[in-house]
Amino acid sequence: MSQSTVKDLIASFTLKELFAGLGVTLKYLFKPKITIRYPEERTPLSPRFRGEHALRRYDNGQERCIACKLCEAVCPAQAIFIEIDPKSQGQQRKTKVYDIDNSKCIFCGFCQEACPVDAIVMSQNFEFYAETREGLLSDKARLLGNGDKWKSQLDANLAADAKYR
Ligand code: SF4
Ligand code: SF4
Repeated sequence: MSQSTVKDLIASFTLKELFAGLGVTLKYLFKPKITIRYPEERTPLSPRFRGEHALRRYDNGQERCIACKLCEAVCPAQAIFIEIDPKSQGQQRKTKVYDIDNSKCIFCGFCQEACPVDAIVMSQNFEFYAETREGLLSDKARLLGNGDKWKSQLDANLAADAKYR
């Protein structure tokens, strides 16, 4: 019998590897925890976090989006579809349709970067899901609703990031 086989046999009979593993468990038992109890506890998110999209309004309720289509043009995944509202010609232009297909979106943030009026932004919400493709479509109503719902958070994020833009 070779020397290494004898060593392996002794290690097996003395449960050396088991005790080595238990030693690691014991060592980490008294170290500060790096895991959290999600969803009750949350880690902090950067103001630049790129979560679900939102469309913002001005304080008087007017939609910011001027239907310039820059976001649609810059989107590398062709996830944005915009139709201009023909009734808004001659005044501040508005969109009739503003859809984002979240099944295509790669959350790159280019649309937010391209927008000249900070209308389309990315929120800190990453907790959304759908069981159908239709459910992954964000239409204008949903996007404006997101903007209204998270207004203070979105404003704070943009203000925090303003000096770096
Ligand atoms: S985050 Fe990127 S991929 Fe998603 S809609 Fe905006 S530009 Fe397109
Ligand atoms: S969201 Fe911004 S970039 Fe996109 S169409 Fe509206 S104003 Fe233009």
